[in-house]
Amino acid sequence: MTRTLDEVAVEAAGCTKCGLANGRTQVVFGVGSSDADVMFIGEAPGFHEDKQGEPFVGAAGQLLTRMLDEVLSVARQDVYIANVIKCRPPGNRDPQEDEIESCTPWLVEQVSLIQPRVIVTLGNFATKFVLQTAQGITRMRGRAYPWHGRTVVPTFHPAAILRGGGESSRQFLEFREDFELIRETLATLNRDPAPEPVVSPDPVIVPEVAGSALEEQLELF
Ligand code: URA
Repeated sequence: MTRTLDEVAVEAAGCTKCGLANGRTQVVFGVGSSDADVMFIGEAPGFHEDKQGEPFVGAAGQLLTRMLDEVLSVARQDVYIANVIKCRPPGNRDPQEDEIESCTPWLVEQVSLIQPRVIVTLGNFATKFVLQTAQGITRMRGRAYPWHGRTVVPTFHPAAILRGGGESSRQFLEFREDFELIRETLATLNRDPAPEPVVSPDPVIVPEVAGSALEEQLELF
């Protein structure tokens, strides 16, 4: 029987599949609507997220929430927000291969249960992981990519915008443009009927990294 998102979250809360379990305050599973049309995927919880148990609650999260409101006219609770990695890596270091592998089934189950029509990858790590590309976010952003019957829109990580000069920067304008692209993509999809979930991958975009646990597991759904 299919589990609900809440049931999966309860199980994830006790996850000890990798070493990150030892250093975390709590698992940061995800937040928002299980019926969301759009799902945002970041890298991993930071200090504040680990303490509060919710993704994107620090300064970067506030910028994300603001873009949701200003450009998409949607509240945080009406989208779904998660990370590839559900526990904070010590000192915010990059996630390691074994951690990514251990954590992937949670993300796969989230995508399968929520069935978002649009997935927004925030920053290099999530974009490379989801689209299986070696290309950086600067090359990938600004376009929508077909992915397993859905659409992926990559954009900058909001923390990169804050680090890179804030609202007066070119990056911020591009970030905003990407949210406009998300809005247009959602409007187009809402005019069309929802597709049947696709079980075989679309022709892979920028297929510079072949295959992955994510791709293999998505084929099961
Ligand atoms: N950065 C991320 O990638 N995710 C969070 O939840 C917070 C900061």
